[in-house]
Amino acid sequence: MESQIHKIHQQLVNKEISCTQLVQEKLEALKANTNNTVNSTLDDTAINLAKKIDHKIANGEAIGLLEGIPFGIKDVFMLQGTTTTASSELLKNYKSAYTATAIQKLLDAGAIPIVKENCDSFGHGSSSENTIFGAVKNAINPDLVGGGSSGGSAVNVAKDYTVFSIGGDTGGSVRQPAGYNHVYGLKPTYGRISRYGLMAYASSTDCVGPIAKSVEDIRIVLNVMSGKDIKDQTTYVSESIPKESILHSDIKTVGYFKNFVESEAIDPKIKEDFLATIEKIKAKGIEVKELDFFKSDILVSTYYTLAMAETASNLSRLDGSNYGNRIDDKNLKESYAITRSENFSEETKRRIVGGNQVLSQGFSDEIYLKGLALRDAIAENFEKDFEEVDIIISPVTPNTPPKIGNSLKDPLAMYLSDAYTVGFSLGQLPTLTVPKGTETGLQITAAKTNDELVLKFANFLKDTL
Ligand code: GLN
Repeated sequence: MESQIHKIHQQLVNKEISCTQLVQEKLEALKANTNNTVNSTLDDTAINLAKKIDHKIANGEAIGLLEGIPFGIKDVFMLQGTTTTASSELLKNYKSAYTATAIQKLLDAGAIPIVKENCDSFGHGSSSENTIFGAVKNAINPDLVGGGSSGGSAVNVAKDYTVFSIGGDTGGSVRQPAGYNHVYGLKPTYGRISRYGLMAYASSTDCVGPIAKSVEDIRIVLNVMSGKDIKDQTTYVSESIPKESILHSDIKTVGYFKNFVESEAIDPKIKEDFLATIEKIKAKGIEVKELDFFKSDILVSTYYTLAMAETASNLSRLDGSNYGNRIDDKNLKESYAITRSENFSEETKRRIVGGNQVLSQGFSDEIYLKGLALRDAIAENFEKDFEEVDIIISPVTPNTPPKIGNSLKDPLAMYLSDAYTVGFSLGQLPTLTVPKGTETGLQITAAKTNDELVLKFANFLKDTL
């Protein structure tokens, strides 16, 4: 797929379409959609911004590449003047007090926010069914889940309701729904994009990630959002990735984790397609190495131990005093209890209880600290791998998207569907889903801060697969 951003930019500049008409059409398509991708549309803001762009064009003024491009925002990002619900009962009416840095940078570049998108509540889930706005339906087959937690964002891109969308990825929430809906989704290196204004789930792996239909559009949006932010001390200074630098691949060695494909949990067709992909890569003269890695059940349990601990801590501030739907009871303690028990979903409560358990005295040494030690071991394993190979590829998921309803019945099976995404989150590595190679796509990973190499290899695969 060619770049949608360049295409629309040209159409605007050539006056083939007006920005107002473009935005109106997208808003109408969003409102009429039956995939449950929308928490709220931003009609007034979007139309006003579009009129300004049309005015500029009519006056013969030049416009930037992102000016007038309509985009979607997962409903966990602050955007002043909009509600940010996290798809939860608790924050159903919460008005954003400020705007997230990543979103502000897109606004400064002239992109037009048109929708806050449906997702799993607080990012808790892999199917986008844990939401008060109704399960997100898959773009290709609406009987299946949209994937999660950034399901609404991936479906909107797949259906062309937005040109690109901004999701959040803690353990796979951009990459997995991108794979389920056949679009591109990037989890950049942790810290490349500021998390300021992204509602915190598990702060040590939370990342802002673009979803789009081409590598070029991912590159453009990534460049705009990246950079050091004094409001997020984990951010780092990064260089913009030039278009030309990712067009020609000089990648010589690629690795893959043997135990991912040898696992009993993998769908036989995904395995077969993945192995066929490896052969195609080898046929291009690239050396492909088998690598050893932690078993996926260790990755999943390490990830969920840390993610639950961090979310229990992060969500402790949501007690109805400062934020959210407060329910009053006979005293303050009872008010906290009823506010939290009535307003958090089953899945969110499971994680808060699990997280507090692993952090509590008597358990934390054995569980939480062990999780931290494993995370360090995983990071070291990656460092060694990247001394041997330039890129690691893997399937995105062991299975194809489940039917709507199944994940809610079996949370453990849902956690295990994250087997291939969570390891790269724990390693804080840049990882991109490309909609090729297997039914749910391929993940491309490079060493920390080497997001450029990931995009380069994605371009190479475009011509190879
Ligand atoms: N499915 C994973 C989880 O529920 C990842 C979610 C995410 O990345 N926000 O934790």
